[in-house]
Amino acid sequence: MSNDIVRLMLSENREISRKELEKIPKKYELNCLDCGEKIEVSEDVKNGEIYSCPCCGLEYEVVVQELLDENKNPYKKVELKELVIEGEDWGE
Ligand SMILES: [Zn+2]
Repeated sequence: MSNDIVRLMLSENREISRKELEKIPKKYELNCLDCGEKIEVSEDVKNGEIYSCPCCGLEYEVVVQELLDENKNPYKKVELKELVIEGEDWGE
């Protein structure tokens, strides 16, 4: 159960029914910080996975936080962090 996406859908389309919600594939939709293109991240994404923008090719590290909502239900907060390669010390 992804509370994040349910909330997102509810806020964007209040007429959506519960049945319709169940048909929605579980994924997060985030926006490229550079060009604004939609980036789809699967629900079972792992913290630190790399996604790239389909439009401009900018690479992001996915930051997954396990949080509790106001009813103490766990949910995942998924954010994109721009992948920055620092200097020449970058390595494994
Ligand atoms: Zn982009």
